[in-house]
Amino acid sequence: MDKKDIVSFGYEELLSEMEGIGEKSFRGKQVYSWLHEKLADEFSQMTNLSKALRQKLDDAYEIRKVSMAARQISRRDPTEKFLFELHDGSMIESVLMKYDYGNSVCVSSQAGCRMGCRFCASAIGGLERNLTPSEMLGQIYRIQKLTGERVSNVVVMGTGEPLDNYDNFLKFVTMLSDSHGLHISQRNITASTCGIVPNIKRLAKEGLQITLALSLHASNQEKREKLMPVARKYGLSEVMEACDYYFEKTGRRPTFEYSLVGGVNDGPEDAKELSALLSGRNCHLNLIPVNTVKERDFERPDRKNVLAFKNKLEKNGINVTIRRERGSDIDGACGQLRRRYADSKKEK
Ligand code: SAH
Repeated sequence: MDKKDIVSFGYEELLSEMEGIGEKSFRGKQVYSWLHEKLADEFSQMTNLSKALRQKLDDAYEIRKVSMAARQISRRDPTEKFLFELHDGSMIESVLMKYDYGNSVCVSSQAGCRMGCRFCASAIGGLERNLTPSEMLGQIYRIQKLTGERVSNVVVMGTGEPLDNYDNFLKFVTMLSDSHGLHISQRNITASTCGIVPNIKRLAKEGLQITLALSLHASNQEKREKLMPVARKYGLSEVMEACDYYFEKTGRRPTFEYSLVGGVNDGPEDAKELSALLSGRNCHLNLIPVNTVKERDFERPDRKNVLAFKNKLEKNGINVTIRRERGSDIDGACGQLRRRYADSKKEK
């Protein structure tokens, strides 16, 4: 029988699990603290537990490894990218970005993705599998341990669609913000979705304080469908309504992400239509000049166009920023390191 993935047990779950194997509940507290505060990799490190208990844990449970396979440090900005190998050989990537206000980690929620967005490198190989809570947490834990840096912010914007892996994602957020673990404030956690409407609504009702980022990328249904196949299932007006609902329920202002693709969605008409779509909404718009992916022939808009687009939206009263580019010299963007690894394996 497979050993149980102990890092995926929530706090209360672990306490009752430990009671279930005949241990007092404070033992459960100690184990949780070793796993989620001290970030232990082995039961043998849990020195305040008896040898017998450590052995008992080791026999039935596993601290699954999220091991570093590659690390790239940007020379341009304080950004590092990590390629991690999971216990079954799946590869995922994460990014650490250091800012004045703290350190932010971008985590993956799935190995691969089945959403198929046209401009996205993660979509190319399809979905391999969902990540467990321990594998999402493990990316952050490993980065803290490797760098010695404390992580204060987390964005779920790596490979995968978090709302296509809802239960694991929800547990991850709960455990990440739990006071018995890293205790990262939910206000410092952002999850990005391509717009899975029923799960946006479900998330709105969970009583969380995380920020929702919605990948918009187009200001009308027709264009959005061309860029994002998921838009055929969940139409633009439904998606906007779900975001309004999220704001209404949580009081958290949504962020809209808009990747500017040269000649596709970056014209003055697009800016006008986007202004109309967002005006009157309490939201933030983040413009991202599209990162070119070698398998795709989308073009980055030139800087002049990006600024003109932003100005137009600003004039129309929209709260807008251009995402500062990070780690472009280290395949910083969107599933590209993982792709390169997959390609290099194919060539061998
Ligand atoms: N599945 C989620 C989160 C992962 S992607 C989502 O769709 O939101 C995080 C963000 O990067 C999304 O807004 C996504 O559309 C965007 N993105 C993906 N590939 C990109 C590229 N090549 N250039 C710019 N942005 C990209």
